[in-house]
Amino acid sequence: MKRIVVLMGPPGAGKGTQATRIAEKYNIPHISTGDIFRANVKGGTPLGKKAKEYMDKGLLVPDELVCELVEDRVLQDDCRCGYLLDGFPRTIVQAEYFDEFLAERECSPLSVLNIEVGEDVLLPRMVGRRVCRSCGKTYHLSAMPPKVEGVCDLCGGEIYQRADDREETVHERFRVYEEQTSPLIEYYRERGALSSVDGSESPDEVFAAICAILGDCR
Ligand code: ADP
Ligand code: ADP
Ligand code: ZN
Repeated sequence: MKRIVVLMGPPGAGKGTQATRIAEKYNIPHISTGDIFRANVKGGTPLGKKAKEYMDKGLLVPDELVCELVEDRVLQDDCRCGYLLDGFPRTIVQAEYFDEFLAERECSPLSVLNIEVGEDVLLPRMVGRRVCRSCGKTYHLSAMPPKVEGVCDLCGGEIYQRADDREETVHERFRVYEEQTSPLIEYYRERGALSSVDGSESPDEVFAAICAILGDCR
């Protein structure tokens, strides 16, 4: 079965953390639009230069820069047995674009997993988030610190705080999520594609709930 999975949830819900595990267990590529944009910002590409203006302010990158990028990515060969989207779609326009793509190009149903977490839990998660500059692995200052302060366990890279994880920007991202992304919950519920998990539990518990929904590997 070709598995096409979308991970949804507010910023800091644990999408990236769970996506790494899901991708490994189900052997499908993890496609994070945030990671793709950050790689472009780091590489100084034209797309990166445009995206940075929005990302630094906590705003969404315009739909027209996102949709084709995702379409090109999921048509690559490694996605032929399925893929996991983390951070896309994030607007109704993106969801409609993706629905059209699915109708034309895919025969498998879409599973949308919504990770539910209240804002009181999200804020400390986001301001405590730290990321490896080299390999992108995510840590948390108190909940999941690296073994040696400031150094990535996996690759020895430098650990830093994303510019958009500072408290000033975090509030704007919550507002943008409420306004532009949260309507997707209803959108996918109406289409019978939505499942929700309680994201306030530990990473292991959240992962177990996700696996119960996605089922066995084959
Ligand atoms: P998202 O991709 O949804 O923005 P992340 O996976 O990057 O979220 O997680 C945000 C922060 O919260 C990170 O610092 C991560 O280590 C931490 N985190 C993720 N899941 C949990 C959890 N279940 N309990 C506590 N902290 C978590
Ligand atoms: P988080 O994990 O905290 O939810 P992401 O890493 O997914 O954040 O995204 C970081 C930023 O990248 C977003 O605030 C936005 O500016 C941009 N971005 C990522 N995905 C999308 C998308 N699908 N549409 C528009 N902007 C996006
Ligand atoms: Zn690393």
